[in-house]
Amino acid sequence: MPEKVGFIGLGIMGQGMARNLLKAGFPLTVWNRTASKMEPLVAEGAQAGASPADVAARSDIIITCVSDTPDVEAVILGENGIIHGARPGSLVIDCSTISPIATRRIAEALAGKGVSMLDAPISGGSEGAAQGTLSIMVGGEAADFNRALPVFQAMGKKITHVGPNGAGQTVKLVNQILVVGHALAMSEALLFAQAGGVNLHKALEAVSAGAAGSWMLSNRGPQILARDWRPGFTIDLQLKDIRLVLDAADKLGVPLPGTGLIFQFYRTLQAQNLGGEGNHALIKALEHLAGFEVTGGLEDRETG
Ligand code: NAP
Repeated sequence: MPEKVGFIGLGIMGQGMARNLLKAGFPLTVWNRTASKMEPLVAEGAQAGASPADVAARSDIIITCVSDTPDVEAVILGENGIIHGARPGSLVIDCSTISPIATRRIAEALAGKGVSMLDAPISGGSEGAAQGTLSIMVGGEAADFNRALPVFQAMGKKITHVGPNGAGQTVKLVNQILVVGHALAMSEALLFAQAGGVNLHKALEAVSAGAAGSWMLSNRGPQILARDWRPGFTIDLQLKDIRLVLDAADKLGVPLPGTGLIFQFYRTLQAQNLGGEGNHALIKALEHLAGFEVTGGLEDRETG
């Protein structure tokens, strides 16, 4: 019998991840703060929990995927939190991106009740969550990692045990330094291509498969050309992640000048009430400096 799984936080990522667990045959209980987001999954066979504690009481493995550090603390340690329902021997897996230090504190609190924890932040965007192709970077005990592997395999493709509790979150912050660097490189490259008068679709096609290619360029480049700012990952959450990076880098004494600059660009977009747009809208900050927008260009219309 597969273990009974609980899932807390059915946002952009959680919806797809929970659906893939159902498809893989795990008995699933879900909970979301905004109750209406549970409806599609309940229609597909999940049970609706009454609270995080209730989900924990009905599950062997409980997954969380909520926004920020205080939100994970609320659903795990808060009133009606997982810690009040989980049985000794159960396993909590946090897939949110949060502070590595807070992660270790939460793991210790759960251990006091005989409950294990893995930090298992994810990468791969809303597409990866929907398609079950996420990269998952896991911190915690090897035995817990091995126990959780079937659950991870239902949601992800590249699953790596990177060290003890907190290590998963640290590697996720490494991931985010790369993500925002790619986003800035893509923004500058597209502005340059537009000014140079080339067909931007052809330019993307030409460079994507070579040394300049990236997930960001292949997935979000076309969205920019369509001026489609719907979020796979919001600017608000991106700012949260860069703040976690800069905070950790400060404690480690590592200079990250490029990442610091990108934080300020995202900050200008949030100040313009664009925090709900996708993180590829970073290009709008650069467009403002350049004095023109990436439109796809006249060349696109001429050559299709
Ligand atoms: P999202 O669409 O904004 O969803 C956030 C989820 O967290 C919602 O279910 C929300 O409930 C819940 N939540 C937030 N605060 C809560 C609280 N205090 N108590 C209970 N529930 C709370 O975000 P997302 O894009 O799915 O991201 C979730 C996590 O995955 C974040 O840590 C993010 O950094 C990480 N992540 C996202 C991506 C991506 O591409 N989107 C990629 C990798 C990692 P409501 O529905 O009630 O608001």
